[in-house]
Parts: sequence; structure tokens; C-alpha cells
Amino acid sequence: MSSVPTVLMRHLCSQAVVLRTFDFGESDKIVSLFTEEFGRLRLIAKGAKRSRKRFGSGLEPFTHIEAFFADREYRGLARLERCHIIAAFPQIADDVRRVVCGTYMLELVDTLTPERERHPEVFLLLLFFVSLLIHEAFREEMLRFFELRLFAMLGYQPQLMRCVICRAAFQVQHHYKFSVKRGGIVCPACQDRVAELLPLSNGTIRLFQQAMRMDIPKLPRLVFSPAEHEEGRLMLTKFLEYHIGRLPRSLMVMEQLA
Ligand SMILES: [Zn+2]
Repeated sequence: MSSVPTVLMRHLCSQAVVLRTFDFGESDKIVSLFTEEFGRLRLIAKGAKRSRKRFGSGLEPFTHIEAFFADREYRGLARLERCHIIAAFPQIADDVRRVVCGTYMLELVDTLTPERERHPEVFLLLLFFVSLLIHEAFREEMLRFFELRLFAMLGYQPQLMRCVICRAAFQVQHHYKFSVKRGGIVCPACQDRVAELLPLSNGTIRLFQQAMRMDIPKLPRLVFSPAEHEEGRLMLTKFLEYHIGRLPRSLMVMEQLA
């Protein structure tokens, strides 16, 4: 470390949401942050395990902070120097369902975003949904909109506007199915040509089409029927599993709780 000239060190700051924190060695912690300016970053918080003075509760998952850190350009871990809490959400811990739903959102962002790839829109989406968690209007089905918009922001958007085989635009009088492998809806004329189709009603497709277009703060207005939510949940879960090759641990915990 001492052989690295200090001129290479950049001192930076960004707003961030804390994704996770774990102990590292005798006295340090490793913190995974989703920052507004630099995307997902892993940082070392020196002395954070031994003393809480320097970082306080600023390293708790879900906390919205302003992080000040030193970074050697694209080499190793950045070093968290200090943080200032903008908003903390201790109420999340009062309700196990909120903890599980929230942990799932953090895990999705941690898993799907490449390190040091800037996505300020993902930061705003995550911050909005973390704030929504402590709102009394929060419903678990809102996670479907979080998943859908996050996938789209990261380039995995399911095609719900036209048949993925013949490209014909969605029409309400048709009955569609969803192909996880092809990444979108399949019209009746093309369904014989594709294996492993999932049911997806027009009501669910139209709800998701709206969810793609809507301003994020308006998303909580959208409401699923129980059947629509179940098929939408299944479709997005399979879609996620196909893209990351496994299911997030917190999603399995959520299913066990349900
Ligand atoms: Zn077709």
C-alpha cells in the first residue's frame, strides 16, 4: 500500500444506499453500497468493527447516506472515510415481512448490477422503494414493479409489447403466453413453435405495460388481482432465475414465509 503514490488516490463522495455490510479481519468491515454517481461499490471501512464512533449506524443495510471515500482508480477496494446519514429506516426491522421484502430488493441490486457501472436511475428506483417499505400502503405485490423496472434499467426488459417470434403488436383479443427463454410474450399463432410457455393473462400483460411507462412514484397506484399477481410473480421469478442462473436467497426465504 505504501508504495502507491498518493497522486493516484482520488477523494470522492456520492449519495448511496447501503446494500450489505460484513466483518473483515480483526477490526474492519466491508460495505457494499449502491452509489448514485459510481454504481455499486465495495469499500473497506477501517476500524468499523472495533468502534462504531466513526460511522455510527451509517453502515446498516437500507440506510441512505452520503459517503466520502478514497479510491485508487479501478484497483482494489475503495476506502470509506466517513459517512453522513441522510435517512435511516429503523422501522423496517419492526416487521419481518418488510425486512424480507427489503432484503430481497437489496440482494437483487447487489446481484444484478456490475461493480462500478454507473446507473443513477437504479439508485433512484432503489431509494424510492426502500422509502416505500416503511409506508403503511406498502404491499408485497409492489415488488413486481421493482423487479420489472430494475430489469429494464439493466437491459433485461421482458418484451411485453409484441410477440417475440413474429413481432406482431399486442392485441387484446388474443391470448398470449410467456417464453422465459425468448424473453417475451408469444401470440397464439406462434405458440406451437416455442416450448415451455408460461400462462400470462392479458390483464397482467397490460398491468406490466403500464408499469413500464409510468413515473416511478405513481407505481403504487397499480393493483393486481390475486391471480394476476401470482402469474406475474411466477413469470418474473422464472425470468430472473434464467438470467442469473439461480434464485436469490432472500426470495426463497420470502416464499417460505408466504
Ligand atoms: Zn407471433
